[in-house]
Amino acid sequence: MNPTPLPSFHNVAMINRRKLLFSASALLAGASFSGYAQSVRVPISDMHSHYGMFSRKMGDSGLAEEMRGQGIALVAWKLVADARWIRSTDKGIVQVSEPAPGELSRYFNAALDRMGTYVTAQKLKVVLTKADVDACIAGESGVVLSSEGADFLEGRLDNLDAAYDKGLRHLQLVHYIRTPVGDFQTTEPVHNGLSAMGKQLVEKCGAQGVLVDLAHCTSAGVDQALAIAKVPVIWSHGWVDGDGGDWRDPYGHMKRRLSLAHAKKIAAGGGVVGLWGLGFSRPGPGWAVGLGDTRGYAKEIASLVNKIGADHVAIGTDIEGVGPSWSVNNYTHLRSVVDHLQDMKLESSVIERVAYGNYARVLKAAMKS
Ligand SMILES: [Zn+2]
Repeated sequence: MNPTPLPSFHNVAMINRRKLLFSASALLAGASFSGYAQSVRVPISDMHSHYGMFSRKMGDSGLAEEMRGQGIALVAWKLVADARWIRSTDKGIVQVSEPAPGELSRYFNAALDRMGTYVTAQKLKVVLTKADVDACIAGESGVVLSSEGADFLEGRLDNLDAAYDKGLRHLQLVHYIRTPVGDFQTTEPVHNGLSAMGKQLVEKCGAQGVLVDLAHCTSAGVDQALAIAKVPVIWSHGWVDGDGGDWRDPYGHMKRRLSLAHAKKIAAGGGVVGLWGLGFSRPGPGWAVGLGDTRGYAKEIASLVNKIGADHVAIGTDIEGVGPSWSVNNYTHLRSVVDHLQDMKLESSVIERVAYGNYARVLKAAMKS
């Protein structure tokens, strides 16, 4: 799929200026649309964003304005299903309390309602169907309602139906609290990957038309999910290193590493790996991206393209999820990452796949209609 982006991604001033330039040059050199086509911005998809959920107030976060202003086609807007029960420490994020029965479900529904209120007020498209995905790539800005963690199910697969009816189309299986779904990267494993329920959840998502997101899963869980899934799956956000993370690693971002072998395995199943917008004040080996370093982020993206192929790399910023350690913290920053990819002379077809096409493809492959 390689739809042509429409001029609606321009800001109006840019269009007018370009039109004037085009008219002027057309008089001199004969009409050609190539100059106009080059000035059209590539749409962007973000597979993992908490914009307006933590460091900004949702109502006046500016998310909708930024999406429209920066040509952001699709944002997987990730509700954090276990946010109330976790805390950030210098060793990473940990669980600090145990939810009472019913609390996870109530928390999820209230958060999803708040997101719905925002989306309706801002007239953003809620992406529910394949046609909605196409409409966003063609120029609308759309939100894919998604959850970081399947905790709201409270262990019951049937509870996915109600979430689907409320618009959920993308589900990350695990996050930071103990869950009947399976193990996660940052604590000692107890399920040997996914539990029986977790495996059934992968099947259920497939049957229902919900994209499965394996971010935070252990390598055993990734292997098991890939063996079950009949459509491509994603790893929405994180980074890729030679070997995978271990729950005993000293820092949170170390634990969250995806091994190159597993990134390749996700790719071999037609899936997509998203790189996050993490940035360090003192970037070290591995993830060499500094604070506010949009060029460094672009370089990491280009490097992963070389390792696993342009059809399998995407963006998953984790805006507001990475806290103050960000290389991008809004969509103006993210636009500059894509500009850097263009400056680096990556082929336009590569940039299109990475910037928006790959997420759109797997989302549509997961959807039933
Ligand atoms: Zn995460």
